[in-house]
Amino acid sequence: MTEQYYDVIIIGGGPAGLFAGIVCARNDLKTLILEKKVYPIDKVCGEGIMPSGIEYLRELGITPFIKKYPYHHFKGIRYISRKGKTAEANFKKGSGWGIQRIALSSALLECASSFPNLEIQSGVLAKYNIGENPEVIINNKTLSPKLLIGADGLHSRIRKLANLEAPSPGLKRFGVRQHFKLEPWSLFVEIYWSSGLEAYVTPVSSSSLNVSFLWDTKLYKPSPSRKKLFASLLEEFPELQDRLKKADVLDESKATGPLYQKTKDVVNEKILLIGDAAGFFDPITGEGISLAAKQALLLEKNVVPVLQKNTSNLENALSEYSKKSLNIYRSYQTMTHLVLLLRLWPKLTDLVIQVLHYFPGLFQKLLSVNMR
Ligand SMILES: Cc1cc2nc3c(=O)[nH]c(=O)nc-3n(C[C@H](O)[C@H](O)[C@H](O)COP(=O)(O)OP(=O)(O)OC[C@H]3O[C@@H](n4cnc5c(N)ncnc54)[C@H](O)[C@@H]3O)c2cc1C
Repeated sequence: MTEQYYDVIIIGGGPAGLFAGIVCARNDLKTLILEKKVYPIDKVCGEGIMPSGIEYLRELGITPFIKKYPYHHFKGIRYISRKGKTAEANFKKGSGWGIQRIALSSALLECASSFPNLEIQSGVLAKYNIGENPEVIINNKTLSPKLLIGADGLHSRIRKLANLEAPSPGLKRFGVRQHFKLEPWSLFVEIYWSSGLEAYVTPVSSSSLNVSFLWDTKLYKPSPSRKKLFASLLEEFPELQDRLKKADVLDESKATGPLYQKTKDVVNEKILLIGDAAGFFDPITGEGISLAAKQALLLEKNVVPVLQKNTSNLENALSEYSKKSLNIYRSYQTMTHLVLLLRLWPKLTDLVIQVLHYFPGLFQKLLSVNMR
């Protein structure tokens, strides 16, 4: 026998799952999040949240919780070419925040735990059936929520089982990340360009940095040894390597990929996808967290009111969420695609950086367009 008990069940308690949980619970929906790992949760990420994302986090009521943890402002983006030429632009409005995933996870959990309507079970691998009426099995009980939310990340199983996955041909990009104990030398997120790969430096506290690399397996072959991967990538950027020479390494490097994951849609009858589960293109513009937060606000505006009342309109509400979510995804994809084109022609990248160096106003405009 199935029971309803929860209005909404969310599989995955990363940022997207917690954002979704917060908007459901603050609107009086009885909500359950099932997360397979134990908090706080780490993940490969560049750890920079763009100013537009900070605005969304503010709307979600999360920023006061983040402020209890170490984080660092950044005022813009700096590109560094293979020849050491730089171009930089300040954000037109607001600043971005760099914050380690462990700290972000703790802050989000603290915020989410403040809602009595939201139950979070961690260390639990969710068992579910995806059919006409999705069911989740907990403690031998079969629960059938009004809505099942898939927030289970980049390689989402729910997306696959709900037949929402599309083939993702072409782009094969991978990422790796490590933290260093070093006072940030700049108030920018720095992007160092090379042939087929880039390095990213994000200040994440007053005494630590996130250093990440992204590469395209068709254009760059990194060391096959997992142990030597990070060091071999760093060797491609002598200037950065030199800066990090004296810094203590704070953790083991972590890698992930392939990053490009396409979806046919982000809803399916009683299922809704959010965050990376809803499709992911590439982190080159640092927008994953911002997109997930924006989707949670769309969920709140378009779907939550229907769940509060009569679910006979759920199909329309889900299709509205789908339309709007795909719109923001498409515009993110277009901009990301343009930036990604640079990796194909290193000489063009050098030239673009030279032009942006002389026209910082143009760079600033492009940043603003990117953040819509
Ligand atoms: C190299 C790299 C750099 C990036 N840099 C940035 C950046 O600078 N800025 C930015 O905004 N974004 C960045 N991103 C993207 C960002 O990390 C993601 O968009 C973001 O983590 C998405 O959150 P999520 O909650 O959808 O997924 P996740 O954070 O992956 O969370 C999914 C959760 O679901 C859980 N889960 C999975 N299956 C189950 C199951 N069956 N049962 C229970 N739980 C389950 C997992 O344990 C996990 O905790 C980067 C990504 C990469 C790879």
